[in-house]
Parts: sequence; C-alpha cells; structure tokens
Amino acid sequence: MDNVLVKIGSLFFCGNRGEDMNFGLKGRVALVAAASKGLGYAAAIGLAREGARVAICSRTEADIQQAAANIKLDCGEDVLPLICDVTKPDEIKNAVAQTAIHFGNLHIIIPNSGGPAAGTFENLTEEQWSSALDSTLFSTVNMVREALPHMKSAGWGRVVVITSTSARQPIPGLLLSNTIRAGILGLCKTLSQEFAPYGITVNSIAPGSFDTDRLKHLHERNAQAGGITFAEARKQAEQKIPLGRLGRPEELANAVVFLASEAGSYVTGQAWAVDGGQTLGV
Ligand code: NAP
Repeated sequence: MDNVLVKIGSLFFCGNRGEDMNFGLKGRVALVAAASKGLGYAAAIGLAREGARVAICSRTEADIQQAAANIKLDCGEDVLPLICDVTKPDEIKNAVAQTAIHFGNLHIIIPNSGGPAAGTFENLTEEQWSSALDSTLFSTVNMVREALPHMKSAGWGRVVVITSTSARQPIPGLLLSNTIRAGILGLCKTLSQEFAPYGITVNSIAPGSFDTDRLKHLHERNAQAGGITFAEARKQAEQKIPLGRLGRPEELANAVVFLASEAGSYVTGQAWAVDGGQTLGV
C-alpha cells in the first residue's frame, strides 16, 4: 500500500492508504492541571479534540470557567472546570475525586503548574525554594498519588508531566527550575518501572520556549535586566532556537496527546524535548 499523510483529528500522521488510524482517546477521562491558559490549556483542548473527556483546573475561577467554555465550544465535549491550587494537597485530592465522580473514571493525568521563581543561589529565599518544591515536585507526587487507584482499577493509565528543558540543560538564572525539574525526571523514570505492571505509562515533556504568558514574563525580566526592549529580548530568545521561532502551544499539545493515547502505548519512562532543537545534549 502507498504511504500517505493521514489527518487524525488535529494531527497528521504518515499511514497506509485506506487504513483508519485512531489514537484510542475516545471516552478516556483526563485531568489537566494548570490549564486555564498556556501549555495546560493547549494540552486540554488537544485531548478534547481527540474525544477525551476532560477536566481542567487552576486557581482563578473566572479563567478556568472561560477556558472550559472555550474548549466545549471548540469540541462539543463536556468539560469540567475545577478550582484547584496544585500546591495544596487537599485541593488536588478534591480535583481528582470530582473528576472521577463527574466522568465515572480517570485514566490520564497531566501534572503541570506555574513555573518556579527565577533567581540565582544567592538571591533566592528559603520560602521561594519551598514554594517551588510545592508547585512542581510535590504537586506531581500528590496528583499521581490521588489518581493511581483510579488508573489501577481501570488497568490503563497515562501520566504525562510538563517539565522544562531546564531538567536536562540548566538555564542561567533559573536555579530552582534547573534543580527540581531534574528530580522530576528521576521520579518519572522510577514510576514508569513501578507502574508498568498496571498498564500505566509515565512520561514527561520538556517544553523549550513557547509563546505563553509565562514566557512573556521571562522576556520582560530579561529585557529589564539587559536594558533592552521586550521585542529585542524576544528576538534574542528566538535566535537561540535552531528552528528560529517560539513554539506554538498546540505544538506541545501534539506530543502530550500522543503520549496520553493508546497510540503511545509502548513509550514509557521517557523525557521528550519539544523545543525546536534548543536542547543540545544527545
Ligand atoms: P502560563 O501561560 O503562565 O499559564 C499558567 C497556568 O497555570 C495558568 O492557567 C495558571 O492559572 C495556572 N497555575 C499557576 N499556578 C497554579 C497553581 N498553583 N495551581 C493551579 N494552577 C496554577 O504558563 P505556561 O507557559 O503554560 O507554563 C506552564 C508550565 O510549563 C510552567 O511550569 C512553566 O515553567 C513550564 N514551561 C513553560 C515554558 C514556555 O515556554 N511557556 C517552557 C518551559 C517550561 P491560575 O494563575 O489562575 O492558577
């Protein structure tokens, strides 16, 4: 058979003419954290477009309600908006429970959060260390802990953690991210071994530079520090990316969708860089 480019939902794959490709996401239930904006929102809409039933959470009620309404309008699927501060274990517990009650199950979690504070060793406070650990490492641990019984009872599960290129290639001025994200890779690799017998895969995705509010904030900081304009700071950042541009959030979502799907069933324990070629290590 001839190989052709096949469109599946919002993604393109090379497949055999006439064969029907399917991600196997229809009817799966996903909880996406920190999803009113940015990468979390893009991941949620990507999953919903492939037929997953999606719960999304973040802290600001108006934003999460608006995000859910937008996804529903785009996909026609039921979307559950939840208010949850992922630094608070009780709120994660509640978000997981509400998702399972609303949809009757939970198969996929996408741990994600606001990024840790920028800074160097000598200017970071103990409180910033603690808050970074809560928002990135412990939020992931707590979300996995709450979701695990649901995935185990389904005999199928997917954990796809959003990290950063800093996990593998330290970024100057982002000491907290550089330190803690590397630990999350260790966590994910270990969980992939422990959970494999349950049919649960565990992977992470390391975004490079994506055009979101978080990145705008970092470019503003760099512009101030370097005495240049925001546009110049953004251009400098783009020049460091081999593909020559910032990523579009949906380009990150494509990788999330694959790893969260049945199509990604034989990939576990991996840390995928989605970064336009930014990470230099092999
Ligand atoms: P963003 O556009 O600023 O969006 C952040 C989202 O997280 C919002 O929905 C926000 O809503 C939510 N959020 C923040 N703190 C939260 C908390 N404690 N509990 C629940 N929700 C929370 O950020 P982004 O660019 O999508 O980044 C997401 C993650 O990817 C961050 O950890 C970031 O460091 C990492 N990352 C991003 C890039 C990039 O290029 N964008 C690159 C590498 C890594 P509320 O404020 O209403 O809660």
